[in-house]
Amino acid sequence: MQQIKKVVIAGGGTAGWLAAAALSKQLGPLVEISLVESDAIGTVGVGEATIPTILSFHQLLGISEAEFIRATQATFKLGIAFENWGDLGDRYIHSFGQVGKATWMGEFHHFWLRAKELGFGGGLGDYCYELQAAEQGKFATSEKSSINYAYHLDATRYAGFLRRQSEARGVKRVEGKITTVQQHPESGFITALTLDSGRQVEGDLFIDCTGFSGMLIEQTLGVGYEDWTHWLPTNSALAVQTESSAPAKPYTRAIAHEAGWRWQIPLQHRVGNGMVFCDHYQNAEQARSELLKSIDGRPLTEPRLIRYKTGRRHRVWEKNCIALGLSSGFLEPLESTSIHLIMIGLTRLMQMFPFSGISVPVLHRFNEQAREEMEKIRDFIILHYKATQREDTPFWKFCREMEVPDSLAQRIALFEESALVHRNADELFRVDSWVQVMLGQRIEPRAYHHMGRLMGKEQLRQALSSLKNSISTAIEKLPRHQDFIDRYCKADAPEVCR
Ligand code: FAD
Repeated sequence: MQQIKKVVIAGGGTAGWLAAAALSKQLGPLVEISLVESDAIGTVGVGEATIPTILSFHQLLGISEAEFIRATQATFKLGIAFENWGDLGDRYIHSFGQVGKATWMGEFHHFWLRAKELGFGGGLGDYCYELQAAEQGKFATSEKSSINYAYHLDATRYAGFLRRQSEARGVKRVEGKITTVQQHPESGFITALTLDSGRQVEGDLFIDCTGFSGMLIEQTLGVGYEDWTHWLPTNSALAVQTESSAPAKPYTRAIAHEAGWRWQIPLQHRVGNGMVFCDHYQNAEQARSELLKSIDGRPLTEPRLIRYKTGRRHRVWEKNCIALGLSSGFLEPLESTSIHLIMIGLTRLMQMFPFSGISVPVLHRFNEQAREEMEKIRDFIILHYKATQREDTPFWKFCREMEVPDSLAQRIALFEESALVHRNADELFRVDSWVQVMLGQRIEPRAYHHMGRLMGKEQLRQALSSLKNSISTAIEKLPRHQDFIDRYCKADAPEVCR
């Protein structure tokens, strides 16, 4: 039960610098923080699409939005457009917005399903403000209107931005490669990191942000890994940056291909592109050539191959070490959830911080919450692969036929039978998210709640059309996304962009 005064963060990617920024801002005078990173090893350099929870985390860090956007060349994101997922030629947007208006008895999609049965109503997305704004390339924030959004950001600049904030608050950065991790001979607790220079960095609590290698949590403490590749079979990605060739769209594109999918993330100064694929079905050379054929702008970098194994560490907190980011496990970036998982992990750490020493019940609770969060997100991502009509390639046949976790199988069965959807406590994805993705992936409910029948046909038609019109009128007033960026937060000042 040694008191925790010195915190050592191993690794300076997005996870490491987010940890430094959050702990220095919130726990500043209570702990001494140092961060060890190696320029020679570098960071994974991807991770550029986020979800709306980033806004509240930035508030916690006292980050000014305009300053952050200029420094990271960020753009705004209203959702993700999924192309070729339910079937070849399909397209839908999973937006961050609310769809229609829910009642206490049930959600809006029950009214919409009733209208479809009667032959009117249009698309479900017609009733979502954020989705319509995304489709029309429009965006604005203001104190008067509320809009649910996130960002696309440059990962390397983001780490640099957080580093400047952290160092200004007293975080000590140590450059060097960690070669050995020292442990207490009896307890096995980590006592220090030894660097290639011979220097020792001692601490009471160690945060492992060393990326996929998990140098502390796995290579030293050997907690083990739960492999989820039988549910999420992609295991490789190729990332390439290109010049922008059109105004930035306010959404991410996720385009399914023969053995995975491809992303397109528009930033102010460039576009991030990548292929996610399973190397049992497509080799890296084939994926590389497909990626280069499909990109729009001139490549600015060589495609970079990243290998990964989907899954999670059995425990993310072991002894006096807490793993964050890629060292804690990995879910592919289809719903842009990894940075969120770092942020939620940090929030929990600050709430449960072991000032008086490591306590086993606290450690268990922390691990249990981390497991639940990741499993729920995992199910949502598997849904995109499982619920497909595609049979055109062996990869999609496999996905369509694979067994899924019971928790997901039950959700799908419930929706198919009754159109009912729920959100469990502490679950990230909202009912609207599940509905948009389930319908977008062509799951057709056999029944729906009959509250829609309480309205007459004409009354329902009028209610839907007035909702649709009010959204269209509001969207007309919005500026174009690119114009809003140019006016509000264009990254044109070189001194803040470095
Ligand atoms: P890294 O960036 O790998 O950083 C590791 C750090 O540890 C580096 O500073 C390195 O130098 C240091 N280090 C390692 N070993 C040593 C050593 N021996 N000595 C000293 N230092 C060491 N997330 C999202 O939220 N949205 C996305 O759109 C998204 N897209 C992704 C796409 C792909 C293909 C992949 C693979 C991931 C994606 N992610 C995404 C996840 C996201 O990239 C990571 O969660 C995020 O970058 C955090 O990485 P990290 O800091 O844990 O690891």
